Amino acid sequence: MGTLPFVDLKAQYRRLRPQIDEAIQHVLDDGQYVMGPHLERFEGELAVFAGARHAIGVSSGTDALFISLLAYGIGRGDAVFVPAFTYTASAEVIALAGARPVFVDVEPETFNIDTADLEAKIAAVKEQGELSPKGVLAVDLFGLPADWDTLNDIAKANDLVLISDAAQSFGGEYGCKRVGTLATVTGTSFYPSKPLGCYGDGGAILTDDDDIAATIISIRTHGTGVHKYDVVRVGLNGRLDAIQAAVLSVKLSVFAEELDARETIAGLYDEGLADIVQVPKRLPDYRSAWAQYTIKTEGRDELRAKLAEAGIPSTAFYPKPLHFHPPYAPFGNGPGSLPVSEELCGRVLSLPMHPYMATSDVQRVIDGVRAAVG
Ligand SMILES: *Cc1c(COP(=O)(O)O)cnc(C)c1O
Repeated sequence: MGTLPFVDLKAQYRRLRPQIDEAIQHVLDDGQYVMGPHLERFEGELAVFAGARHAIGVSSGTDALFISLLAYGIGRGDAVFVPAFTYTASAEVIALAGARPVFVDVEPETFNIDTADLEAKIAAVKEQGELSPKGVLAVDLFGLPADWDTLNDIAKANDLVLISDAAQSFGGEYGCKRVGTLATVTGTSFYPSKPLGCYGDGGAILTDDDDIAATIISIRTHGTGVHKYDVVRVGLNGRLDAIQAAVLSVKLSVFAEELDARETIAGLYDEGLADIVQVPKRLPDYRSAWAQYTIKTEGRDELRAKLAEAGIPSTAFYPKPLHFHPPYAPFGNGPGSLPVSEELCGRVLSLPMHPYMATSDVQRVIDGVRAAVG
């Protein structure tokens, strides 16, 4: 038996090849490579899918978050609260905007921002009086939406901008709402291995707010005004390419099916593993996009090594909390300050997950974990 892929992107291409090749050829033939009808069409489809008023294609998930912060004028002297257990991009955009990331711990079961710790951190920043609390950037880690009801209440009570880092959760749901409508502004990523991925870098911003959407559209193209050569604010080049938009239109047409397939695989993993490792927490009213299927266990590194010997890849997302990385250490309070995030980094393990995974391969992973742990 060979090595299993962690994510098999080519399986999807084999399925969609005629449509994708045609869509790319279409863009090449009509010659509008930046902006234009392919982008507009995809943005419309994406907005409908999420149930949001506006979907704005951008150059990456990172730029989606960065542009959102800029659109609210967040910068020097501002504090933005962000979980410590996430991908580095969540905090990097805050620092790039000139603001200060304030790290918040996460919940041990959902891996998402701990709203009680968030309230404590907001109170601490207010008491200190050096920074002005401006925003919360909460992450739907591994695809599971955070507790957006509580987050919206906290943001309202403290007059904070609420930004959702949905790079991993597009397609997820909370109650009767889809990811893209859970915060004032949502940024997502179309990096190839994300649940909805393109063939390069890409992302989108979703919002129901007309004013902020107009500002975001302006920032996406160098801060231009109504006329192309009027500059009304500082912006950047943050556009989504037409080829990527055309590819994404094709992929969006099968995305709901793929989300169901991910759910089925997660269910098989649950059944096969729940008695020997901690499987992901299931919450009523929540639907994960299953960017990752992440278990928790003692002896994670040993398990990972044994799986590798059996040809089963696995990844530790994330091996270090953000406040342990040198560029972010000055924003944190050192080891022990964010205990749940710190502990999770030594215990989590993400298993192979993609919508085209054969049931026999899922079983092979389950057998591998059972043999290694049991
Ligand atoms: C992937 C990811 C991003 C960044 O998205 P890119 O498209 O790679 O820039 C941001 N936040 C989280 C949580 C991610 O997983």
